[in-house]
Amino acid sequence: MKKISVLGSTGSIGTQTLEVVRQNPDKLKITAISAGSNVDLFEKQVREFMPGIAVMGDEKAADDLRNRILDLTSVKVLAGMDGMLEMASDPGSEMMVTAIVGMIGIRPTIAAIESGKDIALANKETLVCAGHIIMPLAAKNGVKILPVDSEHSAIFQSLQGSPSERISRIILTCSGGPFRGMKASELKDKTCEDALRHPNWNMGKKITIDSATLVNKGLEVMEASWLFGVGTDRICVTIHPQSVLHSAVEYADGAVIGQMGTPDMKLPINYALFYPDRMPMNAPKLDLFSVAALTFEKPDMDTFRGLKLALKAAGIGGTMPTVFNAANEEAVARFLDHKIRFLEIYDDIEKAMDEHRVLADPSVEEILEAERNARAAF
Ligand code: NDP
Repeated sequence: MKKISVLGSTGSIGTQTLEVVRQNPDKLKITAISAGSNVDLFEKQVREFMPGIAVMGDEKAADDLRNRILDLTSVKVLAGMDGMLEMASDPGSEMMVTAIVGMIGIRPTIAAIESGKDIALANKETLVCAGHIIMPLAAKNGVKILPVDSEHSAIFQSLQGSPSERISRIILTCSGGPFRGMKASELKDKTCEDALRHPNWNMGKKITIDSATLVNKGLEVMEASWLFGVGTDRICVTIHPQSVLHSAVEYADGAVIGQMGTPDMKLPINYALFYPDRMPMNAPKLDLFSVAALTFEKPDMDTFRGLKLALKAAGIGGTMPTVFNAANEEAVARFLDHKIRFLEIYDDIEKAMDEHRVLADPSVEEILEAERNARAAF
């Protein structure tokens, strides 16, 4: 029985992780879960999985939960960052799934690594902002960072059995999002309802907007660079609207090895939870005859400036990826609130980057301070 904790159990990745656990009751056991404010769903999850620890985003939500589960005396209810850190350090689990959204995932991920847990990593912001801390720390503590992001899982799967020093390039595929092929004149009036209509994947709101802006692909380039030790100049973003090839590795001999599948996040989650095994999954299989054609295009980085700005931030390094990410989180929240227009997301990120004085090799405290300053400017 593998014991796992899930940071962000009520979200898109969190609920799908619990679905994988539900399908494997004799192999996986949930020992701790956390959520932000969705007490209704969280209470149901607590009652179903009976974790030892349940953490809500703040004291008010935690009190609400405590009052609802007075009958469950074995569940310890905690709140906020302190609660997440206690959950991450708790010796009761051997793996933590980081399904929380945003930079708030950094400190719990570090705490989990320091207590020897393997990480099934969905929270890409952690590596984008603190990859230089996370990867050496994981190596020092002998823990695995197993990618959950579908592209990174595909790359990881394509690396099995091959020497990583023979990687020539990583081919990172990208659906192109709902606005693929459009120009700035068409994008300027797009609403958040338009941007939330992703053609292939059903995900949380923030990452769905990031997919429309291609900011998500930029974050993924940085994530891949840290995970696989490959410079961003050797990561080739390729628009692939069918989302069948989830990404690939080109080796020194010219061989390209990729992983294909349906657009179902439960597959990479399943792979991360059971790695190196491949546990059967109760889900539709890929039907190549119905797919028929796979197409590939170069990304339009002049229109979808999110990718270009991300590559610039990655090239500068230090605190700049943090500022890129924090400014994007703020801008996306404002866009979802109908306060700014689609293209202004890029303007806001660019302004924050222009105004930032970069600090090289930042500590966690310096990363969080750069984040606070970037957010305060909004
Ligand atoms: P969601 O928005 O669907 O879920 C986020 C989770 O984090 C929820 O459980 C939410 O709780 C919790 N949360 C949010 N804010 C706080 C907070 N302040 N304190 C405590 N908990 C909080 O996100 P996704 O599942 O879409 O994404 C999660 C991560 O995975 C992101 O980093 C994303 O980039 C990455 N990812 C997602 C993919 C997907 O298919 N969705 C694919 C690949 C990567 P509550 O529900 O209570 O608000």
